[in-house]
Amino acid sequence: MAFREVPLTQVFRSTTSPLPREQTASLFTNEVVSRSDASTRETRLLDPFGRSVSYLRVSVTDRCDFRCTYCMSETMSFLPKMDVLTLDELHRLCSVFIDRGVKRIRLTGGEPLVRKNIMELVRRLGGRLDNGLEELTITTNGSQLSRYAGELFDCGVRRINVSLDTLDPEKFRRITRWGDFTKVMEGIEAAQRAGLRIKINTVALKGFNEQEIPALIDFTHGRGMDLTLIETMPMGEIDEDRTGQYVPLSDIRTKLEQQFTLVDTTARTGGPARYVTVKETGGRLGFITPMTHNFCESCNRVRLTCTGRLFMCLGQDDAADFRALLRSNADDRQLLAAIDEAISRKPKGHDFIIGRQNLRPAVARHMSATGG
Ligand code: SAM
Ligand code: SF4
Repeated sequence: MAFREVPLTQVFRSTTSPLPREQTASLFTNEVVSRSDASTRETRLLDPFGRSVSYLRVSVTDRCDFRCTYCMSETMSFLPKMDVLTLDELHRLCSVFIDRGVKRIRLTGGEPLVRKNIMELVRRLGGRLDNGLEELTITTNGSQLSRYAGELFDCGVRRINVSLDTLDPEKFRRITRWGDFTKVMEGIEAAQRAGLRIKINTVALKGFNEQEIPALIDFTHGRGMDLTLIETMPMGEIDEDRTGQYVPLSDIRTKLEQQFTLVDTTARTGGPARYVTVKETGGRLGFITPMTHNFCESCNRVRLTCTGRLFMCLGQDDAADFRALLRSNADDRQLLAAIDEAISRKPKGHDFIIGRQNLRPAVARHMSATGG
């Protein structure tokens, strides 16, 4: 089995360079920057490498009603309530991010739809659509969709991601440990009935669902949904050996090409996926390849945890603490300045690596803490 042994950021680092220092310095003040042409004012949130940060992912809870084997250990312990931002705090912070140039917000977790009263936050953020915010989306395991699909649409959500790694109910139970396949299927149907566009996210897992990808293509494309495949990332301690789970998507793509005609497209949905059109189905298939192809170069996003820590990179440990600021009664100016300061620390890329010698997670926190 061929594992990649080179930290991918090394590859990336050699190909790009940051903006000149004098240019970045002015970009990270809290002031609107004047350019030589006074009519073009720089209000975008730019990182030291000139990438515009317009996408915020918010983990609204670390809790979940599933225990997917690649994501969590079965005996996860969760955060005490007082450590987690209240819905008011989350709303305030998101609002300031929107004021500072964030155009897209994705709510995730943990399982966002198990957070008590989560629809209050969705409704309030929905109120910012067409008032700074261009899109509000959610990533869910689908278990609560039957209950919430209509309300999500009502609040302005138009597309959602649903995670689904297999179409076999018994395997579904095995991979999620606690999940109910029928409930998720009902949720997907309810979401479609409500008018939500759906992208199914599937983590490619060695020896588990490699053979099922064609069936997942037929299932999703046959129902007007996109499908995105994701390489498993080494985040957080789990009960299993990750090297046994990892399969490069380049291998999967090669196999798929024996059966399907994959036509590269330039389509993007704001995230890291690269899309092809499957000629035989007419549907879209995405590949998220953090391991085999570094997606950092075009990274436009930052991630807020449910404890108010802002991670500028999914695969690095540096974070800014917004909870302390919020709870010390910081005003909006201070929050805006803290956002600029944090973005000025956004690193060039992650250091994920899965290899025979590397059985430890690249970062200690779980995907459910940072928000996938
Ligand atoms: N609970 C929701 C769900 O499952 O869709 C949202 C949170 S979950 C952490 C978000 C996404 O991250 C899911 O699509 C999940 O499959 C993916 N994920 C979790 N752990 C991962 C890992 N170690 N590597 C790659 N993807 C992972
Ligand atoms: Fe829960 Fe999503 Fe992690 Fe599965 S991937 S355990 S559904 S947070």
